[in-house]
Amino acid sequence: MTTPSIPKTQTAAIVHKQGGPVEFDHEYPVQEPGQDEILVKVLYTGVCQSDLHTKAGTATGPDGEPITNIKLPHVGGHEGVGRVVAFGPGVVEREDLKLDTLVGIRFASRVCHECEYCKSGREQHCGNATNHLHHEDGSFQEYCVLDTKYLTTLPQDIDPIVIGPTLCAGVTAYKAVGNANLKQGEWLAVIGAGGGLGHFAVQYGLALGAQVLGIDAGAEKQKFVESLGARFLDFTKCKDLADEVRRITGGAHAVVITSGHPRAFDNVGGMVRTGGSLCMVGIPPGDVKLDISVATIIIRGLKIQGNLVGSLKETLEAVELVRNGKVKPHVQVRPFSELPQVYEMLEKGDVPGRIVLKL
Ligand SMILES: [Zn+2]
Ligand SMILES: [Zn+2]
Repeated sequence: MTTPSIPKTQTAAIVHKQGGPVEFDHEYPVQEPGQDEILVKVLYTGVCQSDLHTKAGTATGPDGEPITNIKLPHVGGHEGVGRVVAFGPGVVEREDLKLDTLVGIRFASRVCHECEYCKSGREQHCGNATNHLHHEDGSFQEYCVLDTKYLTTLPQDIDPIVIGPTLCAGVTAYKAVGNANLKQGEWLAVIGAGGGLGHFAVQYGLALGAQVLGIDAGAEKQKFVESLGARFLDFTKCKDLADEVRRITGGAHAVVITSGHPRAFDNVGGMVRTGGSLCMVGIPPGDVKLDISVATIIIRGLKIQGNLVGSLKETLEAVELVRNGKVKPHVQVRPFSELPQVYEMLEKGDVPGRIVLKL
């Protein structure tokens, strides 16, 4: 049952076919919450690189092929924060779930709760999961339906403007840096340090007591990365980037590659010290391969890891670090109507931190 004040139609950002433009539909139907679902009024949403890749048809799946099997029309957005406005059948009000409760709209929308990944706290790898990128409409609409059996209930005292990007970029960076097991004073190099994922990775590294070398390009990103407390290296000014990273750090203990640009993976093995780790989180378009010989990996004892977002539990840990002020997402707020321009900026790679849309 829905309350009568909820409109039947709304504004949504629609992609009719991959590779086509994003257009605003002001008569898009508001979905009714079904069994065990709630309806949420979206307040703010971050814009992630994977929204752009899915819209453009350049997102790559685990087989290295483009992901084309998506729900159309496509409504992206998976860094949303909203308030509960209606309960579907079967949902009973409880202490942490009432009308007006702040909740998150993340990448994963539903999981099976039964498989080995769900049962071991790694439900982001659930083979039966659905998500807000390929299967269900996300936060680029005014009202979004969510499953209460896999709900991101947020602390109610958070700032909804900065939490959106924490739900995808934040947790992804948090987990990637955590995987590196850095000790106090060790070197973390972050490739793409000035971007959405990168600026989180820099701060999580510093919060762990690591020394952080942020790699990116241009004066604006330099100023931004240095303001976070990291040392900056402009890759466009280096003759040999790996040489330069080794000169500064003696070989990083960990390299986190947050950029999805195919060139961001060039000679990353040359940046890391023996026994160190490489963690990849930005998925490049196309079938990009890591160019490190097996002999190098074995003889130098390198650890190579990939990381896809994080679990609900890890998401709430990343949110807590923002809530208590240890990590400060850098966001610029724009009106929802500017999504097409934001995509153009992301394509050029000139967004320091994250852009958040106000719905
Ligand atoms: Zn994302
Ligand atoms: Zn599962």
